[in-house]
Amino acid sequence: MKKTNEKKQISLKTKIGRYLLFFGLGIISVLFVFQVFLLEPMYESAKVKSIISVADEVVRNLETDDLDSIIESRQLRTDASIGVLFPSSEGLEYEARFSRGLQNRLTPKEILENIARVSSSEDGTYLYIGTKEDFGHFDEKLKSIIYTRIIYGEEGDTVVMVSSTITPLDATVTTLQRQLLYIGMIIAVAVIILTYLMYNQIAKPLAAINEAAKQLPSGSYEADERTNRYREAAELNETLTAAAQDIQKADKAKRDLIANVSHDLRTPLTMITGYGEMMQDLPEEKTDENLQVIVDESKRLNALVNDLLDLSKLQEGKITINPEEIDLSDLIRTQMRKYDVYRMQEGFEIEESIEDGLTASADRKRLEQVFNNFMTNAINYSGEKKHIIVKAYAEGSNAKVEVRDFGAGIEEKDLPNIWDRYYKVDKEHVRVSSGSGIGLSIAKEILDLHHAKYGVISAPQEGSTFWFSLPLLNQSRA
Ligand code: ADP
Repeated sequence: MKKTNEKKQISLKTKIGRYLLFFGLGIISVLFVFQVFLLEPMYESAKVKSIISVADEVVRNLETDDLDSIIESRQLRTDASIGVLFPSSEGLEYEARFSRGLQNRLTPKEILENIARVSSSEDGTYLYIGTKEDFGHFDEKLKSIIYTRIIYGEEGDTVVMVSSTITPLDATVTTLQRQLLYIGMIIAVAVIILTYLMYNQIAKPLAAINEAAKQLPSGSYEADERTNRYREAAELNETLTAAAQDIQKADKAKRDLIANVSHDLRTPLTMITGYGEMMQDLPEEKTDENLQVIVDESKRLNALVNDLLDLSKLQEGKITINPEEIDLSDLIRTQMRKYDVYRMQEGFEIEESIEDGLTASADRKRLEQVFNNFMTNAINYSGEKKHIIVKAYAEGSNAKVEVRDFGAGIEEKDLPNIWDRYYKVDKEHVRVSSGSGIGLSIAKEILDLHHAKYGVISAPQEGSTFWFSLPLLNQSRA
């Protein structure tokens, strides 16, 4: 599979070479077409245009005194010979005014032939392009353009005739072809040099990056500084460096997870085995209290395994939430009753300030799970100051729920990580009740599914406030 892939891929060097070669060939072909094939027609059409515009100018000035000077100056400027034939008073005869040259260039026969042709033309203009041979008595290969125009008048017709020659371009074309050959050779050399330079600049860093990236699976990536030659390569380096860090992190998280889970599984298992064996060996130890220990530890194991399954299902998107309209105030108040036992038996001071009628759209069971996780953590991490404040209130268009404790708090560097799976600030923390180390990651997954906002404000030794907020359904109260 890999081999066929390799075969299909062309190296960057070849690719750059090909593109540049096509580019070079393209330039040469365009030059060739323009200079060899189109040179003559383009030259001819430009000449025709300039002759027609000279004729137009002469026609415009027929009645003016400037006619002679215009004829002279245009002849000098455009290398055209200009002739105007006015009808004479004697009728058939013409009074001619020629610029120097026209008579030299055209024979009287040619002049008459052109006049005859323009007279019979439909729009009073006649353009002749051809060699003088066409007229039969000049052995000249020079190509001529003769533009004749007739202006009809009551006293007879006026004829304007402008003529010029088209210099043969054969010699020019030969010169250009030779030049093209040289240009082609120069372009070929340039293509080779450019290919090499571009390959060095573009492909070499890529190859070096690729080589360095082979270390990625082991979580390390160290590319040579010289590979940062251009932005894309530098960005690729950054991406790969970040990927290497992520791999390292994921690897560490995996190892931590296994270590933590094994540790947390082992503790209750040791207790269960220990108590079981003790009761086997010493029948008098078969007391209700000792059996309760086994039951409690089994429950703890069960809770841990359930949490793990829950989290992996949530993360795989296998758990969906069923949002319904719930009275958040009610939900919190009901859950709070669970914690009365901490007030009564463990000396906790738990204050609650819950606004009435906060309704939101949420999955009741899952939201309870989140709130209970915040509460359990607050109790577990309260330390000596067994003081907890629970608040639920409307804030703008949201219902906000806060659980605040005054315990050890969380250091700033740990704050972004506590929502990660199995992240424990203090790895050695004494587990109280159900703490499985994944409660907050479950809470995070659930809150994300609800598109809820959530967060924590915490400072070491001052305590933490965990909160979440959901859009209020009964906005009128806001
Ligand atoms: P755990 O079962 O360890 O409490 P969680 O996922 O609920 O797992 O919490 C992750 C970590 O965040 C905890 O190990 C703890 O370090 C920190 N943490 C959570 N809540 C609090 C709190 N109220 N005060 C201080 N630290 C907290």
